[in-house]
Amino acid sequence: TATGHAMKPLTKSTKLKNVCYDIRGPLLQTANQMEADGHRIIKLNVGNPAPFGLEAPHEILRDVSMNLTEATGYSDSQGIFSARKAVLQYYQSKGLLSAVDVRDVYLGNGVSELIVMTMQALMNDGDEVLIPMPDYPLWTAAANLSGGTAVHYRCNEEDNWQPDIEDIKSKITDKTKGIVVINPNNPTGALYSTEVLKQIVDLAVEHDLVIMADEIYDRVLYDDVVHTPMCTLTDDALVLSYNGLSKSHRIAGFRAGWMLVSGKKQHASDFIEGLDMLASMRLCANAPAQHAIQTAMGGYQSMQELTAETGRLYKQREMAISRLNAIKGISCTKPQGAFYCFPKMDPEVYPVKDDMQFMMDLLVEEKVLIVQGTGFNWDKPDHFRVVFLPNLLNLEDAMDRLDRFFAKKRQQ
Ligand code: PLP
Repeated sequence: TATGHAMKPLTKSTKLKNVCYDIRGPLLQTANQMEADGHRIIKLNVGNPAPFGLEAPHEILRDVSMNLTEATGYSDSQGIFSARKAVLQYYQSKGLLSAVDVRDVYLGNGVSELIVMTMQALMNDGDEVLIPMPDYPLWTAAANLSGGTAVHYRCNEEDNWQPDIEDIKSKITDKTKGIVVINPNNPTGALYSTEVLKQIVDLAVEHDLVIMADEIYDRVLYDDVVHTPMCTLTDDALVLSYNGLSKSHRIAGFRAGWMLVSGKKQHASDFIEGLDMLASMRLCANAPAQHAIQTAMGGYQSMQELTAETGRLYKQREMAISRLNAIKGISCTKPQGAFYCFPKMDPEVYPVKDDMQFMMDLLVEEKVLIVQGTGFNWDKPDHFRVVFLPNLLNLEDAMDRLDRFFAKKRQQ
């Protein structure tokens, strides 16, 4: 070097040792390179509705732009009043059990920021948090980044991916601080029964666990099913409810999310002080997007148009599921929420050892980008997640390519 001394390699911090987020990992890097080289890639990897022509409701865009000049400064660290009030009313209308006020609502730069903040506020080194398997991998990454340990509980594919209560029970230790419930679930699209949710609540109450309910897909539902928010089931446990506008209102890029603290709060003042401090440290959530929240929560819920039988997302789900199930050795349960499915590859037919490499082969050979199951902390290399956001034409194209790819693999 110019100064003459050999430079030590700059390594990432050891805090990142068990942190991974494969949805935007090596597969995406390869896909981006292929695109730069002029290939067209069909991307079934990210739950980002806007690029697939699923536009945000115009009233939302108008709200944000009308308020733009008012929203140039930092807001309150927890968020603007009107948005927080609307969030409260949303949960109250759903049957929230405990008394809350605007101080119990935190707006964030998406649910993502609030997930990381929660784990930072909650976990000491060595603490454990129960997280579903498969999961939305940010939860595991954030738990491990906080110095704690993500302990995965099983969701049963044979039982339409409902959480396995016995497995949860067997994994509770005296280090367990909380339990994460993602309902409707990413990556399985499962909607949990009220019965199962109540059993989880009972365990949380018995063992003093914080319930973290990620309900970002609660308005993306098919088949007239009803979603039960965790905060409507108990006021005997501390319940943190997460939601936002990324999916329901197709404005993932605006970064509008929130968290409600409800239930048993009396003993939690110190933890809440921690949350307040972390909220202050990041100053505030993106202020223009906060102005979308009141209208979004109170206004017309346009997502229903997309998920009704005549809607685009409904039709795309039907097609993805039937095409996937028609492939020999592939089976897939039908999701009732969100826009994902998590098919299984029969290991007898496809003896996959490294599912990331398998999906890399798919990308290189057929130009379809799909994230492997282990990217969602699934413990076997026998699943993958399909995002069915592309329109029917593109989805059909993707399914033709999958057909061809799996047929080729069967012959190898
Ligand atoms: N939680 C789940 C289950 C998700 O699927 C996602 C995004 O895919 C998020 C949280 C993050 O959402 P946000 O855009 O609000 O950060």
